[in-house]
Amino acid sequence: MPDYAEEMLVKPGARVKLKEFDAGFHGKHESHEKALPVIQAHMQKMDQLQYLLYAEKKHSLLIVLQGLDAAGKDGVIRHLMTGMNPEGCRVAGFKQPTPIESEHDFLWRIHPHVPATGMVAIFNRSHYEDVLVVRVHDLVPEKEWSRHYDLINDFERLLAVENNTTILKFFLNISKEEQLERFKCRLDDPTRQWKISESDYQERGYWDQYMKAFEDVLHKTSTELAPWFVIPSNHKWFRDLAVSQIITSRMEALQMKSPKPTVDLADIRRKYLKAAA
Ligand code: AMP
Ligand code: MG
Repeated sequence: MPDYAEEMLVKPGARVKLKEFDAGFHGKHESHEKALPVIQAHMQKMDQLQYLLYAEKKHSLLIVLQGLDAAGKDGVIRHLMTGMNPEGCRVAGFKQPTPIESEHDFLWRIHPHVPATGMVAIFNRSHYEDVLVVRVHDLVPEKEWSRHYDLINDFERLLAVENNTTILKFFLNISKEEQLERFKCRLDDPTRQWKISESDYQERGYWDQYMKAFEDVLHKTSTELAPWFVIPSNHKWFRDLAVSQIITSRMEALQMKSPKPTVDLADIRRKYLKAAA
């Protein structure tokens, strides 16, 4: 089984040309049906690892999901939640800043949602919007958004160093044709029509600018402490397989252990088992 955590990692400092990435890649897996046992095994492992994370309370995990409209951010979240106990996992979505949020620095609205020790947080969009949509649409002058990269790296280092947060960032990479196909499905399928809006088609017009903005994000903010992974996402099942493999392998590397009991078990047994007998 290839190690997608290695294969899809953007090495710190590397320059990425997204045109060279195959969004339709699905490894040696032929179909969803054939990959299903692998996916299920990942989900089982993830369930055990999250249980340990919660019990041990030494680490936390932040998963950042970015990608263009219809890239599959919601789909990944739905899938990951099947391998997590919701009690230990929070999902936060970031939309256009509210007027109050706009009056603060761009990380102000993000910080309250980072995971506490023992917890997992999944971000559906994130502070990266402040170097993506903000850049593509000139929402603030370049002088401002261009300093965000360093501030983001500092912020993520703070989380990693001060709160033992493992940060994993996923760029869900779909092709332009696949996006169009997915929009069409949303238009045609009455159960999905609520998901489509005119702005989806309008944003598509900025495809090249978004690719350039993502390439800079990957180049400037993939760090040892908070790496980016480029996930081939045209096949939803392969996307889920790759994301879950990377998360489980990075969680395994934490070598978490069940905490030792903090009470005297022998004493409890002596006192209460005898009484019950
Ligand atoms: P959706 O995720 O489809 O519900 O859309 C949320 C929208 O909010 C997207 O168009 C994002 O680009 C936009 N958004 C998120 N964060 C920001 C931000 N910091 N500034 C401007 N727009 C944002
Ligand atoms: Mg959308």
